[in-house]
Amino acid sequence: MAKIAINGGGMVGAALALGLAERHQVVLFDHATPSASEAQWDLRISSVSQGNLNWLARWQIEDLVDKHKCRDYQQLEIIDQRGQRLVCDAEDVAEARLGAMIENRALRHALWQRLPQNVTQVVGDPLQVWQPQQQLLTCQSGQQFPVDLLIGCDGARSWVAQQQDFAVVAEDYDQDCILALAKLPQAVSAKTWQQFRDEGPIALLPLTQNQVCLILYQRRQTVVRWGAEDSMADRVSDAFQPYLGQLSISQLASFPLRRQHARRYHVGAHTALAGDAAHTIHPMAGLGVNLGFHDARQLVASLNNGISEAALANYQRQCQRYNRKALALLDGLHRLNTGNGAERLLRPLQSAALTLLGQVPQMRKWFIRQALN
Ligand SMILES: Cc1cc2nc3c(=O)[nH]c(=O)nc-3n(C[C@H](O)[C@H](O)[C@H](O)COP(=O)(O)OP(=O)(O)OC[C@H]3O[C@@H](n4cnc5c(N)ncnc54)[C@H](O)[C@@H]3O)c2cc1C
Repeated sequence: MAKIAINGGGMVGAALALGLAERHQVVLFDHATPSASEAQWDLRISSVSQGNLNWLARWQIEDLVDKHKCRDYQQLEIIDQRGQRLVCDAEDVAEARLGAMIENRALRHALWQRLPQNVTQVVGDPLQVWQPQQQLLTCQSGQQFPVDLLIGCDGARSWVAQQQDFAVVAEDYDQDCILALAKLPQAVSAKTWQQFRDEGPIALLPLTQNQVCLILYQRRQTVVRWGAEDSMADRVSDAFQPYLGQLSISQLASFPLRRQHARRYHVGAHTALAGDAAHTIHPMAGLGVNLGFHDARQLVASLNNGISEAALANYQRQCQRYNRKALALLDGLHRLNTGNGAERLLRPLQSAALTLLGQVPQMRKWFIRQALN
């Protein structure tokens, strides 16, 4: 039984701890233990795919997620600038749902509640020194942990990545994502949709019968101006009004968007990265945490027979190419739908692809199965 440290108990780090604890001793570090959900939805919500929910079902995670902070969705609709629509329905592939919208805080809280005895939790005592040759971790308080492997699940500004100089390929999208919680006078169905626009897409995530999360992507300088004018809520309402009518916004925040990918996922047999510490992706397709769970699944499988450089190289082989494809796809979609140059000329191809997927059931089923993973 090996001793593995995970820095960062976000959704990915906590899920990885659960998986690794089945065969190894785990030490999980974070700034704070997750708090239970509050009455209101938090703005950070993830659409978790059915494939990842199936993996998490191994620990009955959904039974512990606050039922008020989780909603299944059955349909996904994409509408392009030319008005071409594609509707994907779980029924097309004989499934009950495509996935679930889950509040990040509620999911993280549920994952931590399931951590078994052999996961030592170290909270509020940040790591200060990692000596891979001595296999020794030292916290700010001086507390020390001998470990075989340190895995960074500590988000996009990973401390672990900085210790071992994990170089990244990165690009700032010069675009912000505005998230808003809104109440509608009418009930909404269990359908998530996204409408592409030249300025950036708008999207809706259904939360409760008449509560939704609205997402609007916009150039950064415009978002800064809206902030200075204090007009962000009005701008969001205006953008969605043609689709939803009157709505009342209760919470609002914006996040800068950046793509980032580590050039390697491990150093030797002693340090590795997973989740946002290894990659951040444009959130347009709701893939971020899903890629992170995929990393966790592969890492657990690769380390099943013990820790070695070959096992970590196998993990990198499985995940780096998979994630690179997803990052490139989202990058392409972003450029195609917001670019002003030759990209515009390619937009009819996107419409044709949506038409094809809509009209050929076998292709649509294949597309939905990809989304389910
Ligand atoms: C606007 C927006 C919308 C999104 N929507 C979706 C979506 O619909 N679906 C989806 O799949 N993804 C979505 N994502 C992406 C998703 O939120 C992230 O991919 C996901 O949170 C990454 O999880 P993580 O556990 O890897 O990292 P994080 O969530 O960043 O967690 C990192 C953890 O590490 C801890 N930590 C950090 N530094 C240290 C340190 N030095 N010491 C100890 N602990 C530390 C933090 O406290 C935290 O608990 C979205 C992202 C954005 C910006």
